This record gives sequence, structure tokens and C-alpha cells, in this order.
Amino acid sequence: MAIEIQTDKIKKVVVIVASARSKRPIVSKKVKVKKKQACPFDFGNEEMTPSSRLEIVTFNSKKWEVRAMENKFPAVSPFEKYVPNKEHTGAFGVHEVIVETPSHSEQFEDLTASQMQSVFEAYVNRFAEISKIKGIKYVSLFKNHGQNAGASIGHEHSQIIGLPFVPEINASEFQHSKNKSQCIYCKLAKEKANVIFENKFFSVVYPDVARFGFECWIVPKKHKINFCLFGTKERTAFMEALQETVCRVKRKTSDYNFSFHNSCKDGEVHFHVEVYPRQGAPHVWAGLELGTGVIISSIDKTTALKMLR
Ligand SMILES: [Zn+2]
Ligand SMILES: [Zn+2]
Ligand SMILES: [Zn+2]
Repeated sequence: MAIEIQTDKIKKVVVIVASARSKRPIVSKKVKVKKKQACPFDFGNEEMTPSSRLEIVTFNSKKWEVRAMENKFPAVSPFEKYVPNKEHTGAFGVHEVIVETPSHSEQFEDLTASQMQSVFEAYVNRFAEISKIKGIKYVSLFKNHGQNAGASIGHEHSQIIGLPFVPEINASEFQHSKNKSQCIYCKLAKEKANVIFENKFFSVVYPDVARFGFECWIVPKKHKINFCLFGTKERTAFMEALQETVCRVKRKTSDYNFSFHNSCKDGEVHFHVEVYPRQGAPHVWAGLELGTGVIISSIDKTTALKMLR
């Protein structure tokens, strides 16, 4: 069945219709307890998924530490043909999964510093490779953790999708940070009132407008436009900040998403990662949010900063 990209020009919304994704298996975090259900992301179960695009193996080990492969139930496909500005068109693109640990129970925030460097290496490798593919205009690297965040498999992993267009949100961010002297992210990284915590290279901030209670953004203090070009010290500091952010979010909810906002061929943005804590009801987007795009949040900045700092 073809995968289609549908654009609603009035609402400025893009829908990818990938009906095969409804066949995705649901594997909970508690799979070891049940035992019956095998997890396709566990070490030893590689034959359950498409072949590896990348395996990072540490010195003296036969076991991969991080593994990337094509998504078995992709939202976009390299075999589709995309026609720009057409209301319904083929969903051309690349969709991969990056499994961040061979162990089913290990949590992202508990990975060692050296494991985190392997994870970072995999992010860079897959991001750079997919960016180079002809016809790919924007690459999104993101993580869905927990059922409130849309995860179907309870084993730590991130996803990466290469799209044949630049989405509205990202195009707008390019507009607002292309001029370094007026970059809103440079300003935000220095705004002490918004800073939750910081290290030498990164500020983790509460955004001026948070769509989710306890939302936080990881922003480099310097105007860096591409995370693939981080030096060794920046890489370490970045992954530390990412882990620490996840730890703090988890004080409130175990479910969260993060999304890397990076530059692409056609636009530059001050790189940042947006982290969205996903609390269940009564915090889910409901009638007003879906009908108008106007979001009601019951958490104010003072409350959020108190919990996150
Ligand atoms: Zn697993
Ligand atoms: Zn900037
Ligand atoms: Zn952003």
C-alpha cells in the first residue's frame, strides 16, 4: 500500500497516511516479566528487524552497544515519488530506528558516559548520512518514551526521519535565527530567569512560551548550527545535559518526547533540542487545542522552574 503525504493548505497541517504502521507490535517495558513476547530491539533478536545500517561495538566486545536500522513499519519510503505543492503525493523519505542499548530494561538516563558517546556517534552518523540523500530536505531526530508519548516499544530507542520538505515549524525557526545578531536562541541561552541548569557549553531553559508543562530546551551557549560538528568536549557536555534533562523531567512524568532542531541544506537554525514531558489526563490536548490550535496549560513558569531546578 502506498504511503501518502497530504497537505491541508488552509490549516497548514501535513498528514502522512502510512496504514501499514497499524500493524506495529506493542511491546511493553515489562516484557521480561511476560516472557512470551519477544522484543525486536533486544540483543540476539536482530533477525526480527531489517538489517543494521550501523552497529557500534566497543573494544573487546562481541555485542553491539548501539544499533541503527530501517524502521520495519516506515512512515515514509525511498520508493515513493514526492511531487512538491501537490495536495496528495507519495511519501518519499527515510525512516530509521536507533536502538540505544542492547538491554531491554536499561533507561536512557542510566547509560554510562561512554555508552552516551556511542549513542551520540550513532545520531551523528545516521543524521549526516540521511541528510546527504538526494531529495531529502529536512531531517528530524526524535524520541518517544512511554505510552503517553506515543512509543509502541518499551526499549530505549530514538527515530530519525528524512522528509522531502521543510516543515512549517522548522522553516519558521530558520527565519528567526538566521541572523546571529538577532537570534532568539542566543538570547534565550543567556536569559538567567529562564535557565534551569547549565554546564560549560549548554543552557537548559524553560521556553518563553511552553506548550507542555515542564517543557525544556537544551540550547548551546554559542551560536552552533549543526550538532554533527560538535567537538569532543561539547559532545560530552551535550549528552550530559540531555541525560540530566530527562532525569529532571522524570521527577514529574516518565513519558516524554525530545526533538532535535538542526539546520539542513536549505536553512540554518541555532541548534537546540526541545523536550516535551507528556503527562496523561488531564494534561492531554483536547477540544480547544485540536479545534483551534490554542493550548491551555495548567502549569505556570514559577511552578515549572521550581520543579525543574
Ligand atoms: Zn527490548
Ligand atoms: Zn544563536
Ligand atoms: Zn525548536
